[in-house]
Amino acid sequence: MRILVSNDDGVFSPGILALVRLAQEFGEVRAVAPDVEQSAMSHAITVRTPLHYQRTPIDGVEAYRVDGTPADCVALGAHHWEGVDLVLSGINLGLNIGHNIWHSGTVAAAKQADFLGIPAIAFSAPYTDDVPDYGIYERYVRDIIAMFLELPETPLLNVNFPDAPRGLRWTRQSVRHYEGMVVPGEDPMGRKHYWFSEKPRREAEDGTDRWAVERNLVSLTPLRLDLTDDGALARAQAQLDPAT
Ligand code: MN
Repeated sequence: MRILVSNDDGVFSPGILALVRLAQEFGEVRAVAPDVEQSAMSHAITVRTPLHYQRTPIDGVEAYRVDGTPADCVALGAHHWEGVDLVLSGINLGLNIGHNIWHSGTVAAAKQADFLGIPAIAFSAPYTDDVPDYGIYERYVRDIIAMFLELPETPLLNVNFPDAPRGLRWTRQSVRHYEGMVVPGEDPMGRKHYWFSEKPRREAEDGTDRWAVERNLVSLTPLRLDLTDDGALARAQAQLDPAT
């Protein structure tokens, strides 16, 4: 099995090395990742400048760095390596739950794989200033990859680890409470500037990704590329049929 590993923290991130090591238990592994951090780039692609695909072995593993986004990396990686069976993204330094799934480059790398017809899992863990201890996630990553390979009808999976995992839970994305906010400030020259920040969290809805992580459960959320709101579509069609 050919496994392409990517991320948005950059090819030299400790998280990608941890994921590569575990992926090697399942097949042949190649890492293709951004040359610098591309967090919060979401599903951006590079269309106005050329991209470079440069060999950069990491700790003896075949790896390539790309001067582009996570989605670029997966597209180029799949182009250069025919027959990729599985794409793994992460392990991201920082959770990708709730509305952050929309901003995440880690998740976008997995989405890009799904666009190309390749099953993919995105892995994220809580942010820490120290090098994270990926050892506590190892057996869960193994179990999740093995389980995922048995679920062909679930081609895109978003996984988030709590600080101290005690089990796995299927969840849905929590987006009811958007937490993003703009905080104005001033630089030393007196010029105004702005930071994106987050409001304090309100209680998460039962069964969501945030709910699970707050209870030390590993959150497993199946995602899809089709953004259509099926309920709204059905209601709109029932209320107003443009064809009549
Ligand atoms: Mn990141």
